[in-house]
This record gives sequence, C-alpha cells and structure tokens, in this order.
Amino acid sequence: PRLGETSPHLRRPRRPNGLSVLVTGAAGFVGTHCSLALKKRGDGVLGLDNFNSYYDVSLKRSRQSLLNRHRVFIVEADINDAQLLAKLFDIAPFSHVLHLAAQAGVRYALQNPLSYIQSNIAGFVSLLETCKSVNPQPSIVWASSSSVYGLNWKTPFSEDDTTDQPASLYAATKKSGEEIAHSYNHIYGLSLTALRFFTVYGPWGRPDMAYYFFTKDILNGKGITVYKTSDGEEVARDFTFIDDVVKGCLGALDTAEKSTGSGGGRGAKKRVVKMPSNGDVPFTHANVSLAYRDFGYKPTTDLGTGLKKFVKWYVGYYGVQSRAKRGSDQSAEE
Ligand code: NAD
Repeated sequence: PRLGETSPHLRRPRRPNGLSVLVTGAAGFVGTHCSLALKKRGDGVLGLDNFNSYYDVSLKRSRQSLLNRHRVFIVEADINDAQLLAKLFDIAPFSHVLHLAAQAGVRYALQNPLSYIQSNIAGFVSLLETCKSVNPQPSIVWASSSSVYGLNWKTPFSEDDTTDQPASLYAATKKSGEEIAHSYNHIYGLSLTALRFFTVYGPWGRPDMAYYFFTKDILNGKGITVYKTSDGEEVARDFTFIDDVVKGCLGALDTAEKSTGSGGGRGAKKRVVKMPSNGDVPFTHANVSLAYRDFGYKPTTDLGTGLKKFVKWYVGYYGVQSRAKRGSDQSAEE
C-alpha cells in the first residue's frame, strides 16, 4: 500500500502483549523470513525496503508477493528518508524495530564502496535519529555480522574477541554500526541489540552467496570452485540455517530491553583454488553461549538438513519461474 493507505491493522498485534515491529530490509532474505514469523505468531508487522538492485530485484518482488499473501506489507522507501520514517512512526508507534536493511556482501565494495556507507552508516544513523526522537522509543534489534571479527584467528569467535582488524569495507561499516549503536545507547538511552550473524542460508536465500551458486552450478552440471588459504587449508565457514536465525531474532526482540547478544544429492566436481584477498575471511566459527544465556538461542538445523531444504526451494522456485515464462500463471510458494 501507499504510505497514506497504511491501515491500522498492520501495526496492531493480534496476541495479548504482542509486539508491533517495523522490519527494515523486509524484502531481503532474512527480512522476509522474520516478517512472516512475526506475523504468524500474531505480532504487528510493517516492512520497509528500497528494493535496490544489488541482486535480482524479481527475487525481492517474489518475496514481497509471498509476504503480501500473508498480509504483511512493505513500504517502498530508503532508510535515509528521515521524513518518511518520522511519518511512519506517527502512523504506527512501533514498539520494536528489526533493522536488517543494509548493503550486504563483501566483494561488491570493490565496485560500489559508497553504497556501504550510504546504507550501513548514513542510513543507520537516519533510523537511529528517528528512533531517539519518538515517544515511546522503540527497542532496536539489528544485524551486525561475524565479519567484524576480521583477521582474528582464535575460534570459536566470542563477543569479547577483538574486532579491530576488519578485512573488508562491509566489515568496517558493521563494526562502525556497533560503535554508533553504542553511542546512541549511551547518549539517548536507546535500547539496541546487535546480532552478529554467521553466514545465513536457506530457502529464498541470496544469489550472491556461495551455497546459492554452488547449487545452481551443480544442477547445471558444472564444476564448483572451492577456496583454500595460503597454508593449503580449505576455507570453512560456520553456516546458520535461516530458521535458527529467525528464532534468534525473535528471541532478541522479546528480550530486547535487557540484553546485548550475538549469533552463532548430486556430487560436486570441485576445484580448489587459493583464496583471493577480496575481503572474505577463510574461517568463521561462532560461540553462541551468550546468545543462549540471554534469549535461549539454540540452533537446531545441521548443514545437511538445511541445504536439502534450500535445494528443494531452489528447484521449486526456478521451476515455477520457467513455467511462468511459458505463460502459466503460477507464483512462488514458501
Ligand atoms: P538482503 O540483501 O537480502 O536484505 C537486505 C534488504 O535491505 C534488501 O532487500 C535491500 O533491498 C534492503 N536495503 C538495502 N539498503 C537499504 C536502504 N538504504 N533502505 C531500505 N532498504 C534497503 O540481505 P540479508 O541476507 O537478508 O541480510 C540481512 C541483514 O543481515 C543485513 O544487515 C546483512 O548485512 C546482515 N547479515 C547477513 C548475513 C547473511 O549471511 N545473510 C550474514 C551477516 C550479516
């Protein structure tokens, strides 16, 4: 709907003591899943997204259609638009903001460095400025990233590890975000919880991520490229299935005021090559004990099970897409 048409039921929770949540980046991978989960448990949800073209916009539109079918709506806007944000809070005094809008990805900074500054720093400040000025102030849960651990080689990564060596501009903007968040908490008493996600994967996932293009290449009978470090070790990431991230986000929203936490088929022909220094870090491994203590975060989906769910979605989604191109009127399902 257009902004003026945003109807009150969008923000009002259907369950007693439910939250009313503004989800930024709602047409994104994590935003779509979290918005659906909030709606399903009876919280009020309104999405916001600028539908930028960092990756396939039609995938974002398909996620939007899915949300619309569940009566979750997205205002098409940029978080830098402070006037619009103020107007949204006027219409709907959100109790919580789940802030997921960001310029994601590490390598894109080589082409478009300013997009990271615009969304992850300027946009974040614009959102915080709005949140600090409204009454009552919402509690904010937002996505930082495991990339803040940068060139730290001590695993598992824990909240009190150093974050002073970011390996990419993306990581630098997420770390800056954490410092900016700290200052808004300190000066204005804003409640802010940063979650350091570790490589999230699953249905409706992002086309710029390795599991996505591995799946695509394998299904097309092509080989895949696997990176190794200069010591010859294979690059190993700690993957988190989307449902676990959703549980973590909802848990953090529910306890937002009191805590600051963080996260935790066919055979492939693989080609192992030396990892280029493009800003990616070769190893990640989360220590999730603080997140468990603060909001009961306990990931349950192992990589094999999660990847099967992703591949099932991938085959269904792109199968549906090609049938749609041939003229039948079908749309993507969950
Ligand atoms: P995504 O790119 O799918 O979603 C982000 C959404 O935000 C997109 O739909 C985009 O259009 C929107 N957006 C970007 N800039 C905006 C702006 N200025 N105003 C309004 N909307 C804007 O990414 P995702 O994987 O869903 O990630 C969600 C959050 O989690 C991001 O903050 C990302 O940095 C963080 N994160 C993700 C992962 C992961 O593995 N997916 C890992 C660590 C951190």
